[in-house]
Amino acid sequence: MSEASRLILATHNAHKVVELREILAAAVPALANLTVVSAADVAAPEPVEDGATFAQNALIKARAIVELTGECAVADDSGLCVDVMGGAPGIFSARWCGRHGDDRANLELLLAQLSDTPARHRRARFVCAAALVTPGGEEYVRSGELVGTLLERPVGSGGFGYDPILQPEGDTRSLAQLDAAEKNAISHRGRALRALAPQIGAAFGVGA
Ligand code: IMP
Repeated sequence: MSEASRLILATHNAHKVVELREILAAAVPALANLTVVSAADVAAPEPVEDGATFAQNALIKARAIVELTGECAVADDSGLCVDVMGGAPGIFSARWCGRHGDDRANLELLLAQLSDTPARHRRARFVCAAALVTPGGEEYVRSGELVGTLLERPVGSGGFGYDPILQPEGDTRSLAQLDAAEKNAISHRGRALRALAPQIGAAFGVGA
């Protein structure tokens, strides 16, 4: 694997950039001296995410950055999958209300759709596919999940997206009530990135 000097996080979502940086810093401490920038930092346009799975969309985002910059890229594609809804919103999580990126409207529509659904049928999971693409054409994808129950109304002010309505299994709080370190330790994104850490470390010639 060729050695690189800069890692680009292939996302424009500021919340995700923060989480990805924190997770990577813990998972690959040897990256501490390397520059980690976001898609916005390299003025990358948002690619069309027309894949049918989280993994395909993560690869689309990472490949677009590598094509633009010729540097290593890590992308995350993620969403909320509700059992009783057959896995929806899934890859449509960011635009469930009909427009992209309106977290509050997405969450409110989902709660309205589930208004008659009792707690025992409100099982859901966050899913994340994390992809690493190198300029040499190597591609790796790892995934992670966080299982929980959907609350009837938003609780807590931390996190982003659907965090206020997901209560992780074994906890009495919503994800929006966990601090960043607590969320990263159990989150879909944390799990996927930690699984990808050996490949990221190898791409930069350091151990994970
Ligand atoms: P993406 O940026 O296309 O991967 O869309 C991800 C969408 O899934 C976000 O806009 C959120 O609605 C939701 N999502 C993904 N990860 C999380 C999370 O950690 N907490 C809350 N919502 C999330």
